[in-house]
Amino acid sequence: MTRKAIVLGSTGSIGRNALDVLSGLNGEWRVTGLAAGSRAKELAQQANTIRPDALAIVQQDFAAELRGALEYSPRVFAGPNALVELLRAGDFDCAVCGVVGAAGLAATLCAVELGKRIALASKEVLVVAGSLLMPLARRTGATIIPVDSEHSAIFQALQAGHRDEVRKVYLTASGGPFRTRDKDAMESATLEDAMQHPTWEMGPKITIDSATMMNKALEIVEARWLFDLRPEQIEVVIHPESIVHSLVEFCDGSMVAQLGTPDMRTPIQYALTYPQRRACPSPRLDLCEVGRLTFHAPDAERFPALRLGHEVARRGGTCGAVLNAANEAAVELFRERAIAFGDIVRLTEKALSEHAFQPAPTLEDLLNADRWARDEVARCTTC
Ligand code: MG
Repeated sequence: MTRKAIVLGSTGSIGRNALDVLSGLNGEWRVTGLAAGSRAKELAQQANTIRPDALAIVQQDFAAELRGALEYSPRVFAGPNALVELLRAGDFDCAVCGVVGAAGLAATLCAVELGKRIALASKEVLVVAGSLLMPLARRTGATIIPVDSEHSAIFQALQAGHRDEVRKVYLTASGGPFRTRDKDAMESATLEDAMQHPTWEMGPKITIDSATMMNKALEIVEARWLFDLRPEQIEVVIHPESIVHSLVEFCDGSMVAQLGTPDMRTPIQYALTYPQRRACPSPRLDLCEVGRLTFHAPDAERFPALRLGHEVARRGGTCGAVLNAANEAAVELFRERAIAFGDIVRLTEKALSEHAFQPAPTLEDLLNADRWARDEVARCTTC
């Protein structure tokens, strides 16, 4: 039986890899919907090749360009609610969510309400609203399968035992471009320096998050919600080769890991085909060629973001929304060259310590905390 997928964020890095995987699973899967933010021409090109039934473009201004470039007549949704409209109208078994930042929140909530499978690459969604999404998924029967490589590895390793047998999970981190740089040199790092990720090819936001290690902080919070872990059960270990994607330690001391080449197509495909596995276009891992795998503890002083990750995982409530929004706003300012590299985490921490904490927020509270944090970061840079 053919299964159907909608790809949200199809013109981004995750989306393009998802389409590659889906075309390799030809015959088993059909793409029924594609959605992008503003890249109308690329979305039209993808659509003209794949011919999904419906499309969505979030930036209304680009809708005319999209319609003009189409060689057939799918339904087109446009505007800020377009992702949700596409999901509600569409026929699908799995939504691949690769929308950058918190923009994927409404769409993910919608897919969870519909009780579908979500291949979730947008970690921000769980960081902001994990406390609402996970209980909702349990009620509707929706399955959230992580696409984030570390969380996919943990999800796979967890199959080796029972949940109450898990002692710890270890999130591996490449260490990013500044793994060996001293504190002062990091402070004044340029945008070009921060964009040089040693092992993974990714979009600009996540590449900068890897340089600050805020990416790992967000992943600590993501793991806390996805796997219902206590914060002290989540540890970060630096692994520069990016071959061991993460590990689970069970109560008997056994550690189960997932290894592979750093290629997002593997976790994307597993999220689609789980519990089955299929041949995948990602390159094979040659252990003898890799030769050596190294691990060491992260430097908490040079990477203060990690402490924030554990703090947010412990406090919960509105903290995740503030961490994510303040960081997004600060990264944007850094990309505009308006703030220094060191300011990204400093401004995020300041927003976190000054916000009006709520322990059991509603969606509206989370959205308000998100807005407040963005305004606060903007205000701090102008005063
Ligand atoms: Mg990751």
